[in-house]
Amino acid sequence: MTLRRVSILGVTGSIGRSTLDVLRWAGGREAARLVAITGHSNIGALAQAAREFGAGLAVTADPARYLDLKAALAGTGTEVAAGPEAVIEAASRDTDWCMAAIVGAAGLAPTLAAAAQGATVALANKECLVAGGELFIAACAAGGATLLPVDSEHNAIFQVLDRTRQSAVERIILTASGGPFRDWDLARMARATVAEAVAHPNWDMGAKISIDSASMFNKALEMIEAKHLFGLRPEQVEVIVHPQSIIHSMVGYVDGSVLAQLGAPDMRHAIGYAFHHPHRAPMPVERLDFARLARLDFRAPDEVRFPALRLAREAMAAGGLAGAVLNGAKEAALEAFAGRIGFLQMADVVDETLSALAPHGPAATLQDVTEADAAARRVALTGVRARAA
Ligand code: NAD
Ligand code: MG
Repeated sequence: MTLRRVSILGVTGSIGRSTLDVLRWAGGREAARLVAITGHSNIGALAQAAREFGAGLAVTADPARYLDLKAALAGTGTEVAAGPEAVIEAASRDTDWCMAAIVGAAGLAPTLAAAAQGATVALANKECLVAGGELFIAACAAGGATLLPVDSEHNAIFQVLDRTRQSAVERIILTASGGPFRDWDLARMARATVAEAVAHPNWDMGAKISIDSASMFNKALEMIEAKHLFGLRPEQVEVIVHPQSIIHSMVGYVDGSVLAQLGAPDMRHAIGYAFHHPHRAPMPVERLDFARLARLDFRAPDEVRFPALRLAREAMAAGGLAGAVLNGAKEAALEAFAGRIGFLQMADVVDETLSALAPHGPAATLQDVTEADAAARRVALTGVRARAA
């Protein structure tokens, strides 16, 4: 394998750490020259990744941690910077492959910068497409960037989608584990704690996406993400609950055939696929033992307990900035879930915010999206205060 210039935005997170594993498997410094890496609060992990790979630039998004990072990397030759602008600058550096794994809408501006420099963008940061779909797809086209989905469902679809015959695609079917509250009743869900919500049965992920999986807001974001990534109409995006998380998603064709991608629930599959694309490289991930699995289960999602799915369809139908509003309101509600509002109230707050800010204009510029995101957070916080009082 040839040496490639790589950057990792969000290297200290769950996806970032799994990306480092994939690079180690591929040969470490022999396979990847780390041009730039970024993190936020975990300076120890950021500095360690920089040392291991001899990173050219290490950036913390938090300006208050600049001196800590500088001290941790003293004498290494790694350039150090801090603050949101420095994260964008890191993303703009010339690379062949950029992993976009910042969590939340904070990832949009840096990921747009990575797309503009024309790299292959391995996209984990789904909020980027949810909030700024049209904008981001246009930026990839304008920058000549190749967009490879890392979210396991979208990566699965990418692997089985016949892109030369878009008209032959009838629907895509996103699988959902159903999260830790799959079998809980509404009364129990209303009292759910943060600790219960982050305990995902199948996947080991960051805290925010784990809570989003418990409310199925993660699947809601993924429906909108799929629409933008694959150019689908809202009614072509279906969701099925599949508790084992073995089928990562499926594509249904007009002749009735359904193609699926299967694998053990390990994000390093999807990350490795995106790193080695268009080739396939051997990876030491768990192999499926079908005799031991014995069965795969499916059931329709329950939209009474998981209204996030309905909200996603409404946002897809509205289009434009509705995605940014849904995501911004959801991020604000999620922060408030830690003590101020109950688990089920997160969806109420998002629902209310989407209605309050309708009609939603077009997501034409980064400023449009940033303003819609800020407005959504303001309205959502009003809803939070009304409930917390
Ligand atoms: P995480 O919380 O573990 O890590 C987030 C990363 O973003 C960290 O490196 C953190 O330092 C950085 N970050 C946080 N706030 C920031 C800010 N304001 N500015 C710049 N950087 C900031 O999250 P994760 O689970 O690795 O998820 C990352 C993205 O990948 C999310 O969009 C998530 O939805 C998506 N994703 C994750 C998984 C998974 O298995 N973890 C699967 C599919 C998709
Ligand atoms: Mg996913």
